[in-house]
Amino acid sequence: MSNAQSVLEALVAMSRALGRPERDLVILGEGNTSALCDEAGDGAGTFWVKGSGTQLGTIDASGFVQVRLAPVCALAEKGELSDAALKAALQEAKVDPANARQPSVETVLHALALAEAGARFVGHTHPVAVNALTCSQGAERALAGRLFPDEIVVCGPAPAFVPYTDPGLPLARAVRDAFRRHADTFGAPPKVIMMQNHGLIALGDSPKEVDNISAMCVKTCRILAGTYAFGGPLFMTEEAVDRIHTRPDEAYRRKQLGIA
Ligand SMILES: [Zn+2]
Repeated sequence: MSNAQSVLEALVAMSRALGRPERDLVILGEGNTSALCDEAGDGAGTFWVKGSGTQLGTIDASGFVQVRLAPVCALAEKGELSDAALKAALQEAKVDPANARQPSVETVLHALALAEAGARFVGHTHPVAVNALTCSQGAERALAGRLFPDEIVVCGPAPAFVPYTDPGLPLARAVRDAFRRHADTFGAPPKVIMMQNHGLIALGDSPKEVDNISAMCVKTCRILAGTYAFGGPLFMTEEAVDRIHTRPDEAYRRKQLGIA
């Protein structure tokens, strides 16, 4: 099988797993996913992204569109584009112009996550547990600290938080700025982006990592909500977070989880 086809197959499996109804990560057409084709493979310089009007839980290979990375990333550097102009530009970037499927409205965001944040697979979902938090008055305060070691092992030392932004190009730019701020502070891009009044983005090196991050993020948000029944979150100290993040045995655990 060609490289582009094997990446697509892995992306389909990841998307269907994220879309399983009992996981409560998405309903209907919510969420979108993407994956980078190998630089050395036949799809070099391209990525797969979910098409508009498809559902994660039931998606198959025909639900994805292969798009060229560079022209899509370049859209973020241009001035404002109308919805129609953005749609036309994404159409133009498709590897197969005959494919009738329209790339997701969040295609630019996915391109920037793959090109700038070092991800190879990206999963964007709207989990109930996560949005209970991102849609709350106290979201930023509640996200200010870490709660338990496995959260840090899987999701990194901190999520990036993006204030509510109009979907499409403005959101893609706001998320890219958040990648850069996070890298300046922590020395590496984030694994988790929390978008206010919107949802979660999990950035992974593999489909397994995206799935693990999404699951751990939901668990963290559930625990966080629970802490408010007992006086509010007791955050770990900065030293403790740093220790977990840099411990050799935690690096080993990451490796075992297939995320390092
Ligand atoms: Zn969304």
